[in-house]
This record gives sequence, structure tokens and C-alpha cells, in this order.
Amino acid sequence: MWWPPWLAACLAWAAGAGAESPAPLCASRGLCPAPPGANASEPGTGQCPRGATDLCAWALSSQSLRDIFPVDVIQENYVRNVRNCIFSVVYPTPFKSRIRLVAVSKEVLENILDLDISVQGTSDFLQFVSGGKVIFGSVPLAHRYGGHQFGSWAGQLGDGRAHLIGIYTNRNGERWELQLKGSGKTPYSRNGDGRAVLRSSVREFLCSEAMHYLGIPTSRAASLIVSDDDVWRDQFYDGNIRKERGAIVLRLAKSWFRIGSLEILAHAGELDLQRRLLDFIIQEHFPSIAMGDSNRYLEFFSTVVSETADLIALWMSVGFAHGVCNTDNFSLVSITIDYGPFGFMDSYDPNFVPNTSDDERRYKIGNQANVGLFNLSKLLQALKPLLDPRQKQLASQILDGYGERYYSRFTELFKTKLGLLGENEDDNYLIAFLLKEFWALQDLGKHKLFSEWVSMYLLRLTRNEGDSDTKRRTRMTTVNPRYILRNWMAESAVQKAKLNDFSEVHLLQQILQRPFQRQQAAENAGYSLRPPPWARDLKVSCSS
Ligand code: AMP
Ligand code: MG
Repeated sequence: MWWPPWLAACLAWAAGAGAESPAPLCASRGLCPAPPGANASEPGTGQCPRGATDLCAWALSSQSLRDIFPVDVIQENYVRNVRNCIFSVVYPTPFKSRIRLVAVSKEVLENILDLDISVQGTSDFLQFVSGGKVIFGSVPLAHRYGGHQFGSWAGQLGDGRAHLIGIYTNRNGERWELQLKGSGKTPYSRNGDGRAVLRSSVREFLCSEAMHYLGIPTSRAASLIVSDDDVWRDQFYDGNIRKERGAIVLRLAKSWFRIGSLEILAHAGELDLQRRLLDFIIQEHFPSIAMGDSNRYLEFFSTVVSETADLIALWMSVGFAHGVCNTDNFSLVSITIDYGPFGFMDSYDPNFVPNTSDDERRYKIGNQANVGLFNLSKLLQALKPLLDPRQKQLASQILDGYGERYYSRFTELFKTKLGLLGENEDDNYLIAFLLKEFWALQDLGKHKLFSEWVSMYLLRLTRNEGDSDTKRRTRMTTVNPRYILRNWMAESAVQKAKLNDFSEVHLLQQILQRPFQRQQAAENAGYSLRPPPWARDLKVSCSS
């Protein structure tokens, strides 16, 4: 069996050291207990006493980020307003109770993290993914960011319950940032307890992976664990506080920087730092932009505008409502992040609001494109101090182009969904007609305008050059998912998981890896049917 050397080293270390004994700092590149004071310094890199020097560089490390950016000068872990830095050093808080592994993503472990799937059976893995131990040589960080929440500037937010436990560069040269979510308090925890409960963690784990297999840019999830530690939540904000269990998702993204990452620096007037952060993001994630280009921030903005429009069009193409489209939840590399009270529509309804805490219905599905524009306008506001007058003007024009970009991507996606080839001036109308009437697909045939729409559609199909019904059907089944993570499906998995039956989490995980293919197990479970009657009353709130 093949083990990555750092893991082999950690296993070797674990075999020789009791859980109680603190690991000497230069013992190996294995796992170390999180220091109780949470502020041990990182050892020098490149020294691997076990001899695997060439692969030592594989170890998880946050060194590159700490080399580039100033780190919070205060190292004690208490809630405060943080200034003049991008990250604070802070260690996860281990759970006190028993920990169970709920699920892992084999694909993430093997293809992104270069791990053998059998690693999931080791106690070190359990310690690692639950924040009980950190990889030797990596110093965990919490990111300082701000954001506009529900339209208003909320000030400092930051990683209040997440720890960036390091960056992993895999055998394909991809750089991935690993984050534990639910791993304890940080300087950004405000009034929170730093924890995440099982139900929201199951939802994030399943949905982020499901989105990936739907072809939608997203953070990924490597693992999900649940503890027996008590976490108290008022799930529906009705005064009914209940005991739940703390859980942790190990999640990955190429970058976790958000619009709010830049906003907080602009608000604090920390422009040098903002420039450094922007240059870092451009250098790492926008390879087509030349660092020497004096218009690079403009080009960056232009790319984020286009890619955010594309992302939201993709969300709409599968009926996904994020639920909390605040600027702190909008990624600068335009991936879907921070899964909370999201929802997939059960039947087409532009007024669909997945989050019952969203009283104003600000983040209803039909408003997501507008909210994207609002968020990008806040990004522009943050960038303005770094732009000259001409660039500011051009940036406003770029923002003006957002709507067109969104509609053209949206139309393209819906044309593909309908199996249309080539261009036709009535295509927009055909799509709008279908959507405007709020037709739930299963009721389509009953709608009074159905035959009118079908006639238009059939006429349009005659303009599909070189096409046939068989070819079209094949194309359409590869873009219209048969299975999506409907609320009732996630809820059913959550209810079982609460009883330590993780079978439906596993089933959904497996089914949603091939969302476009008919699968007997999914059919048996009713995943392609209408939601069961009990699902009508399902509510999802911000509480997580
Ligand atoms: P969210 O809407 O979940 O993306 O979170 C918004 C902000 O609240 C972020 O700064 C989170 O880190 C923080 N937050 C949410 N829940 C908690 C919690 N239980 N403990 C500490 N911080 C939290
Ligand atoms: Mg968030």
C-alpha cells in the first residue's frame, strides 16, 4: 500500500508516542498535538530527520502565507478587533468527547490530497480531521475579513469557527488550502462558540461535493466527523434551545479569500496591505494577468465580474439558492463557498427563499443575479482607492456589463438544457416563456399554455442542424441532472445521522457523484420523485 511520506512519518511517530506526550518540535513531519497555549512557533522547513527530504515539502504548511502577509501581533485566543494583518495564528480546539468519522470523499483524499483511502481507518486521521492534532510543520490560521450582510456593512467578521490548517500542493502541482470548519473559537468568533452542528455539516459536506459533480465551481469536502460534545442551538430562533452535537468538515478550496477579505482592508484604510493581498491573489489565481501590468486590478475586477456572473447562471441552471449571499460568502475566485441554509428548488419558483431567517426575502432565488451585482459593486467600492480616475471609470463600465454577461451565460445554459443547437432570435423568448409561467416540471403537461410552448419548441427543434431526437436526448440527459440534493433528501440523511446511522449520507454521496445517470438505488429511495408530503413543512435557518 502506498502512503505519502508525511503520513508514513506521522504513523511512525504515532506508534512511538502516547497521545498525552507532547511531540518534540523537530521529531518528524507527523502529527503533533495542538499546543494548549496555541502559539507554538513553526519549526524550520526542509529538515526531515527521517530522511525523506525530497518529500518533506509535501507537508501541509501555512508558511507561504505567513511569509507574505503580516500576522496578527497578538497570539492569545480571545475575541477582539484585529488590525493590520490578514491572518491570526490560532489552533483548533480539540473535542473532549468521542469522535466518529461520518464520511470521507475518496476522490478528494486520493486525487487531491494524494492519500490512500485506507488512511480513513487510522486514529491519526481522525485526530487530524477533528482538529485534535495538527500536521507537524503547519501553523493554523484564522482569516480576518469583513462583509456586507443583508445589504449593510457588518464590520469585522472573519473565520469565527474555521481554521486554515495549511496549504497542500499535490502531485499535479495544484495548491489547495485546507480548512477545518467547526473547530473552535478564534479572535473572530464574536458571540459564537466556534462550533458547527451535525445537521449543517452534513449539508455542507454533501452539497459541496454534489455541486462539484454537477460541474459547478465549489469548495470541496474531504471528511466529516461528529463528536459527542454538546453544542447548543436555537434552530428556528423561537426560544427553543436544544442540545446538538459538534461536527467538523475538512474542506478545501484553491483560495478562501472573499470579497469581504478586501473590503475590510479598504474600510480600515490599510491600503498597502490591500495591495499586497490583491497582488498575491492575482499572482496565485489569475495567471493570465501580468503582475507588471498597471491595469492588473482592473483586469482582476473584470475577471471576477464575468466569473461571478457565470457562477450565478450555473446556480440558476440547477435551481440552487445559496441562501446567504453576503459579500463575506462570495469568493474572489468565483467558487461556491460557505454552504448554510441553501436549497434546491423543488419546483420552479423565482420567489423561492431557502433560508427561513431571511425575512425580507433578499436572497430569494430570482434575486441572486441582482445580489451578485450588489456584491460586485461592493468589491468595486473596495478597489476604488487603488484605482486612478480613468480606471475607476472603466471599472464602472465593466460592472455595467455584468447583466449582459449573466444573461448570455444563462441563455446558453438553458439552451443546452433544452437541447437547442445554433442561434435563433426567439430563443430568449422560448426560455423566458417556459420560466415565466412558473411551471413545475411535473405539472407542465397540465398547464394551459403547455401546448403553445411545445409547438414553439418543436418548431425550434427543426432548426437544429444535423440533429436527431436520439442525439438530442443524449445531450439533454448529460446536462439536466436526474438527482439534486433536495432539502428532504438532506434532511432524511441528517435525521439518520443524528442516530449515528450514516447510511443515507453515504448513499447520497454516492448517488450525487453521478447526478446525470439513472441509478437504481436512487430510484428505490425516491430521489427522482416529488418530495414526500412531510417535506412541505421543512425549514432551514441560518442556525448552524
Ligand atoms: P456564515 O453566515 O455562516 O458564513 O457566518 C458569518 C460569520 O459568522 C463568519 O464570520 C463566521 O465565522 C461567523 N460564525 C458563524 N457561526 C459561528 C459560530 N458558531 N461561532 C463563531 N463564529 C461563527
Ligand atoms: Mg461565511
